[in-house]
Amino acid sequence: MLATRNAHKVIEMRRLLEASGVALEPLPEGVELPPEVGDTFAENALPKARTAARSLGRPAIADDSGIEAEALGGAPGVRSARYAGEGATDAANLAKLRRQASAGSALRYVCALAYVDPGSGEEHVAFGECRGRLAPEARGTRGFGYDPVFLPEEYGQTRTMAELSDAEKDAISHRGTAARALVQWLRG
Ligand code: IMP
Repeated sequence: MLATRNAHKVIEMRRLLEASGVALEPLPEGVELPPEVGDTFAENALPKARTAARSLGRPAIADDSGIEAEALGGAPGVRSARYAGEGATDAANLAKLRRQASAGSALRYVCALAYVDPGSGEEHVAFGECRGRLAPEARGTRGFGYDPVFLPEEYGQTRTMAELSDAEKDAISHRGTAARALVQWLRG
């Protein structure tokens, strides 16, 4: 069970986990997730996974992710989804990042992926990160969020995350790394 209402995350996480043989179901309507009030990605991911796991009586995972700009002391970080204000669009958040940080400055995507088994009480948080630079202009139509201005280091900073294929993004993304780490942990 994936505790999120973000359709992009459902698509990416399902792609990532199903490749490893872990089946994922979307969160049923009616399960209310707690607000994101933590100061860290793990503090936000765990309560979401706990709420879903306990209300459904089955193992659940939840991710909290965001982007950190070195020039901004790690902002927007856990506030990435609401950087330009509560309910802000991806375009508004991305435009604010471009106003606040200069092109070429260092960025880092971070993902905390929490797992909770309500039967055993077992909890685990896997992490992933992806380093890159702020692109001089937005490019590409794939992905979501800040992807059009994120130039990942792994591909030589020539293409933005929004210009990569799904497989290319999954191979290096913060969510991909966290998902693979969680699968490895689940397999013991
Ligand atoms: P939250 O985890 O629901 O708080 O939202 C995380 C926010 O971080 C998203 O709304 C995006 O703005 C940003 N974000 C997280 N992962 C990605 C990604 O893979 N690509 C682009 N933006 C992302």
